[in-house]
Amino acid sequence: MHEGIIDYLDIMQLAGVSELKMADGRRQVAADASGTVAHPLSPAVCRSPSAVSPVVSPKPEYRLDTKEGQLQYLADEVAKCTRCKDLAESRTQTVFGVGNPDSPLVFLGEAPGAEEDKQGEPFVGRAGQLLTDIITKGMKMKREDVYICNILRCRPPGNRNPMPDEAAHCRAFLDRTLEIIAPKFICCLGSVAAKNLLSSEQTIGALRSKVLEYNGIKVVCTYHPAYLLRNPAAKKDTWEDIQLLMRTMEIK
Ligand code: URA
Repeated sequence: MHEGIIDYLDIMQLAGVSELKMADGRRQVAADASGTVAHPLSPAVCRSPSAVSPVVSPKPEYRLDTKEGQLQYLADEVAKCTRCKDLAESRTQTVFGVGNPDSPLVFLGEAPGAEEDKQGEPFVGRAGQLLTDIITKGMKMKREDVYICNILRCRPPGNRNPMPDEAAHCRAFLDRTLEIIAPKFICCLGSVAAKNLLSSEQTIGALRSKVLEYNGIKVVCTYHPAYLLRNPAAKKDTWEDIQLLMRTMEIK
């Protein structure tokens, strides 16, 4: 069977899809108890969306008609994921995302580190403190007003960079997260986030200091806070990028 279809079936199963029907005009879609049609992993992430349509067995404990409920469902599915065998074995827990699901702005990092793996929340270590400063002191926003997530939801051992297959395995979770939140702006933190989101081979130096676009979302890339901790001289460049982001968001 084509590899893309196997990936698709794997992910649909992970998302709770119990049955697939051919889209032949007698399409059946899932609805929750209130009749709301909504599913955290919609056909939009599928590689062959027109070929099949999912019949979902909804779980009654999730309010799938709210963004919070959809994210919680997805987070619980992520917590069961074992697609990256090594990461699933070494993680303490998965680290999904945190913040306001209605935020127009998503900060996208690389992968959880040791502290995030321990606490189950992205950007809570030293780099996280710097990100919080950027949000609160630089942008004059609250951390809880934005949404923060990563390319990977598991910690790579020794904080190594995510492998391409790991980023590919986690991609549907990122895409669905973005689909639920529907932000207007994304700020990519570092080259792993920027290159993966934008499918680009360019360096972070080339991708920063401009407004890019991803699926109709405006994207500003800047250096990763961990890089800034090691290279404080680059903080002024990040401040310029953040000011560009603020101008793009039309916030003063
Ligand atoms: N670095 C990241 O890229 N993400 C985190 O969540 C923490 C550190």
